[in-house]
Amino acid sequence: MSRIFLSPPHMGQDEESFLSDAFQSNWITPLGPHVDAFEREIATRVGVAHAAALSSGTAALHLALKVLDVNAGDEVLVSTLTVSASANPIAYVGARPVFIDCDRESWNIDPDLLAEELRACDRRSKLPAAVIAVDLYGQCADFAPIRAACSRYQVPLIEDAAEALGATHQGRPAGSLGELGVLSFNGNKIITTSGGGMLVSDRQDWIERARFLASQARTPAPHYEHSEIGFNYRLSNLLAAVGRGQLRVLDQRIERRRANNAYYRAALALPGIEFMPEASYGRSNGWLTCLTFDPAAFGATREQVRLHLETLDIESRPVWKPMHLQPAFAQCRVRGGDVAKELFERGLCLPSGSNLTVREREGVADAVRAVSSSAG
Ligand SMILES: *Cc1c(COP(=O)(O)O)cnc(C)c1O
Repeated sequence: MSRIFLSPPHMGQDEESFLSDAFQSNWITPLGPHVDAFEREIATRVGVAHAAALSSGTAALHLALKVLDVNAGDEVLVSTLTVSASANPIAYVGARPVFIDCDRESWNIDPDLLAEELRACDRRSKLPAAVIAVDLYGQCADFAPIRAACSRYQVPLIEDAAEALGATHQGRPAGSLGELGVLSFNGNKIITTSGGGMLVSDRQDWIERARFLASQARTPAPHYEHSEIGFNYRLSNLLAAVGRGQLRVLDQRIERRRANNAYYRAALALPGIEFMPEASYGRSNGWLTCLTFDPAAFGATREQVRLHLETLDIESRPVWKPMHLQPAFAQCRVRGGDVAKELFERGLCLPSGSNLTVREREGVADAVRAVSSSAG
């Protein structure tokens, strides 16, 4: 038996031939026909007019803040229950994150707490420069009330959809739900280019500006004139070729991951276990299956389960440690925080790959059940 990974890459049929086309044409560059085609294909899939292919999701979020002109001293509201990449770019531009707790229905940013924080900011006459709503573990945040709160105070809304490509909210695709959307093609995501990201929007001027900043902010003079500081953030044509192949199998990947989730729910319907709920407003892409353990009712803690899986060479991972509990962000304001803290303490992500075999996922479920019965 080999190690069972949390979310490994899963290549389809076409990636190699696209890649070999890129080799044969000698477009071994951070621009080229596969970059252009990948941008068009992602924009179509997400239902937005424009897309800029970038070297990572983190770079996409950094450039989202740059095009919105978020600067030193500004505040940006962001969900606390997420990975550090959702918050780090706020620090890159010298701004301060303000963390908002999640709700129990979706594990995403709590729209009521977001509205409360915006009201409090408005009363102090210091509105945030942007809001970043994250789509956690493949499920969209509840964008109807989030959009209403942001537009009431005219605060721009960024959707961090890095984990949610292919998910929907009221029929609209993840990535299209804010004014700017961020996607990631990192190795652990539902489709991957090994590393990569995309910034998407209906605003052509913003996407053109992101492409400009991502290419060292070079104006088209032969000697490369620079009137501002740029970045080297474009996606390689080789990696875009891989991404085009991956995009063709996205729907199959979603079906497999959702089937894993349905299997785990049925196999682990035990006292003390609760799964991350799927909210009625949308459809998750099933990226990771996450559940919580109530130690009193289940007979073991999340950490006992995780360590037992590890002895069987099964990779699992605690739910993200909330950003307001991370030492790097200890100085930042937070509204609420106890829901995210409890989900972190009790929550675990199970192996969820689209190439997980039926036998492997049976083995994972058996191993989780074994902890309960040995403890009981
Ligand atoms: C992965 C991820 C990112 C960052 O994407 P990279 O491509 O790894 O830089 C940002 N936000 C969330 C929610 C993510 O899961």
